[in-house]
Amino acid sequence: MDLTLSKSELQFQQQVDEFLVAALKPEWRGVSDIDNRTQPAVMAAWQAVLAAKGWLTAGWPVANGGLGWSPMQHHIFKEACSKARAPKISTMSIGMVGPLICAFGSPEQQAFYLPRIINGADIWCQGFSEPGAGSDLASLKTAARHDADHCIVSGQKIWTTYAHVATQMFCLVRTDPQAVRPQAGISMLLIDMTLPGITVRPIHTIDGEHHFNEVFFDDVRVPVSCRLGGAHKGWDVARALLAFERSGIADVVATRQILGDVAAIVAGDTSGTASLLNGEDFTNRLTRLEIALDALEIYEMRVMEAAERKTARDHDASMMKILGSELKQDIHSLGIEALGILAAAWPDDEAPAHASGAGGKLVVDALFARASSIYGGANEIQRNIVAKTLLKSTVEI
Ligand SMILES: Cc1cc2nc3c(=O)[nH]c(=O)nc-3n(C[C@H](O)[C@H](O)[C@H](O)COP(=O)(O)OP(=O)(O)OC[C@H]3O[C@@H](n4cnc5c(N)ncnc54)[C@H](O)[C@@H]3O)c2cc1C
Repeated sequence: MDLTLSKSELQFQQQVDEFLVAALKPEWRGVSDIDNRTQPAVMAAWQAVLAAKGWLTAGWPVANGGLGWSPMQHHIFKEACSKARAPKISTMSIGMVGPLICAFGSPEQQAFYLPRIINGADIWCQGFSEPGAGSDLASLKTAARHDADHCIVSGQKIWTTYAHVATQMFCLVRTDPQAVRPQAGISMLLIDMTLPGITVRPIHTIDGEHHFNEVFFDDVRVPVSCRLGGAHKGWDVARALLAFERSGIADVVATRQILGDVAAIVAGDTSGTASLLNGEDFTNRLTRLEIALDALEIYEMRVMEAAERKTARDHDASMMKILGSELKQDIHSLGIEALGILAAAWPDDEAPAHASGAGGKLVVDALFARASSIYGGANEIQRNIVAKTLLKSTVEI
């Protein structure tokens, strides 16, 4: 695969760089995915700038406002945003539910929801997991019974990221308890989070943040018009969504930014300690991680190209999810080891600037990144998918 940029790609890269210099306010730089929970106004303002340029929904189908960019153009854009430390955009809204509504929504649903996603009127959360249904998602119990033109929803979701700030949830519910296959009795509802009967309770995580929640439904009346993809067709919709979610988790561009931060710590630039690059151990380990990331980048681009030609394989998203999440964790671990005792500092601790700044932030990010091998489908389950799809082609299992 030739990764050398063509003349037109170089021109596009320059166009993106110039746009970022002009459009990105200095105070927005460095606002991370995690900060988006506490500073949603920055994410909204940045998304408005991108929407005005037409670049917020570049990856959507052209009929719904997408730009038909090539995989390389997407890569150039993501890389430039990452280098400029632009705020993250909402994965849940722009990267997940938006494309899903483009694919499965009725014209009325598209006309209502898509503009609200683009102008930031709605923040979305994903209501899939339940206390007894994570890896085995098809066993979910939150039920929706039919009553004229409403579905009446009762049950509980858990680990619902953003539910405390969200205005809408895309939610899997059981609509046919008699279905022979549990997957065949599930529907997807788009639920307005302000409806009576919804209670959101926080769950706090080891990084000290409030990312996710428990959500309780007590006879919540959801109009049937908010069902996405037809009655009992929720599993097909969810499968399409999980593929978007898993492939996004590889997130090579963001991982390269973390690798750059860790390389600076190892070199002593931000840790304030002597450079560890004088010894072979850290140099070799850093180099191995760089090589692994380069390989993952090429794999990601090959999969993006294959997806464009509709030849991506079932297990590609799972492979990228495993490789991307575990590589990110390995990079964080090296950074923490390099920080040594400074890794004990928290970002807002009264400590030397180098310790409470880059080091403290790395530790917080590293603690949250432990979850990346769980969310979006645990890595053990992804390994099962890879084994099943790859071995099936050579061995009957
Ligand atoms: C930070 C974070 C954010 C999340 N955000 C959301 C969200 O917004 N919305 C949402 O719906 N969910 C969310 N989740 C939930 C996530 O999707 C589930 O945690 C995940 O699917 C695993 O389910 P579980 O936690 O019930 O673990 P379980 O399914 O109980 O699994 C426990 C362990 O057993 C292993 N295991 C289970 N079955 C098998 C098997 N057949 N073979 C081998 N090993 C197996 C798993 O790999 C895991 O290690 C989030 C999770 C995290 C950590």
